[in-house]
Amino acid sequence: MVRRVAVVGAGVSGLAAIKCCREEGLEPTCFERSEDIGGLWRYAEHAEEGRASIYRTVFTNSCKEMMCYPDFPFPDDHPNYMHNTKLQDYIWKFAEHFDLLRHIRFKTLVTKIKKRPDFSVTGQWDVVTEKDGKKETEVFDAVMICSGHHVYPNFPAASFPGIQKFKGSYFHSREYKEPEKFRGKKVLVIGLGNSGCDIAVELSTVASQVYVSSRSGSWVMSRVWEHGYPWDMKIVTRFQTWLGTVLPRALSDWLYVRRMNWPFKHENFGLMPLDGTLRKEPVFNDDLPSRIACGVVVVKPNVKEFRETSVLFQDGTVQEDVDVVIFATGYSFSYPFMEDDSIIKVKDNVTLYKSILPPQLEKPTLAVIGLVQSLGAIIPTSDLQCRWAVKVFQGRRILGLKKKKKEGGKYEKYVQCSPIYIFLSPQRYGSSNTLQMDYVSYMDELATAIGVKPNLPKLLLTDPRLALEVFFGPCTPYQFRLMGPGKWSGARRAILTQWDRTLG
Ligand code: FAD
Repeated sequence: MVRRVAVVGAGVSGLAAIKCCREEGLEPTCFERSEDIGGLWRYAEHAEEGRASIYRTVFTNSCKEMMCYPDFPFPDDHPNYMHNTKLQDYIWKFAEHFDLLRHIRFKTLVTKIKKRPDFSVTGQWDVVTEKDGKKETEVFDAVMICSGHHVYPNFPAASFPGIQKFKGSYFHSREYKEPEKFRGKKVLVIGLGNSGCDIAVELSTVASQVYVSSRSGSWVMSRVWEHGYPWDMKIVTRFQTWLGTVLPRALSDWLYVRRMNWPFKHENFGLMPLDGTLRKEPVFNDDLPSRIACGVVVVKPNVKEFRETSVLFQDGTVQEDVDVVIFATGYSFSYPFMEDDSIIKVKDNVTLYKSILPPQLEKPTLAVIGLVQSLGAIIPTSDLQCRWAVKVFQGRRILGLKKKKKEGGKYEKYVQCSPIYIFLSPQRYGSSNTLQMDYVSYMDELATAIGVKPNLPKLLLTDPRLALEVFFGPCTPYQFRLMGPGKWSGARRAILTQWDRTLG
């Protein structure tokens, strides 16, 4: 019987976990190492150990209607895309509204999570925490890991030839906060991801010159899409997902490349991705093309070698007098508190059933929340993952999960019926990006398993206006609280008024 659940981290995923435990009558205790909720979205002047760090001007890439908790829409007066401080306000309102704060122990670091000796029978965990230098061990029936995956920098500086000779400064984008101290400097940003592009564009207003070096290019999308609508409300729909599955691959790829090139031709800006048909996460930046067009940001290929004051690129060009290099080279995920982190991580890869559950555990009492990447927003994804996980903890019948008696043994082992990463098709997403998946398909798979996927044929007969909006309109989070267990009575109205809040 699972009753006490430990939640690691009080970011947006941790808050979803607390709420979902409460909805199912479990007792969550959330441990948060910092003194506040919000995780990544709580801006601090300096990067803090073990917590994601953002720059002052981070805005969301997902619009408010796609990014909210499914039973808690953003206030009407919020803009479609939000500054981190506005999102942090919303996160606080959510936590207060659902009375989640009393379950959180702040300034409490989880230092170790290990199976109890009788784990194969009880499924219980020892959770060791540290507060004000005092260690404490508690027993929990289940654990939800919500510690984020933008914390530990992937910082490959040492692998660049000549970096030891380079006389300028260099650091990871995690340390970047604001542009002023780069006034008049020549800056090279390595990496064409979201952070790299944001930082390059921001620096281009004060630096004497900004270069962006990219190994493989990237699709760059604008938040403001066709006719000024938010990109995600036009693109992340059930209809688009369905088209992707029924169209022949060649046609689907052609349409994809055409759509991505619709605002501007990437080739003309040196941004064309090496394999443009792979559905790798695009970059969202409304200003990059114009900054390139104005010459204040210059796109360069991979760096071949650093010299004392200059940089040699792979195409043979040399950039002289470079003052600063910013490695916007992303993050790798890590779970330093897991006694045995191979439960989650195998050779820098994750092998989680439905991207949540370590498949090799004798008892399914550990869930990793938010360790996915898709075109959809993380808040609704984490919410649905938590609802799924909590049901698994409780031993409810979950579609796709079977119990199997271990031969000759006493305990039961859980086995998955469908492959891990059912949506991770290397042909579509590229084999290097194991966290990436198709949002609508993934959400529907989890929703089907716990009986909360919108029943479209039924809706078509009973509420055709709603059915059409659910199928052709944006796949907003409310859809997953429309019917079934955990249903929210405001979901129908929220779906039918979503465009009013967007345009209003
Ligand atoms: P986090 O926000 O990282 O929270 C983890 C929490 O766990 C932290 O509070 C940390 O202090 C705590 N913690 C960690 N380890 C321990 C421990 N051992 N003990 C106790 N506490 C611990 N996603 C979107 O959906 N839309 C966007 O527009 C978007 N924009 C982004 C922009 C940037 C620049 C970045 C980097 C990411 C963006 N993301 C976006 C993805 C982002 O990761 C998620 O939005 C979200 O913040 C992840 O929430 P989380 O709760 O899973 O993790």
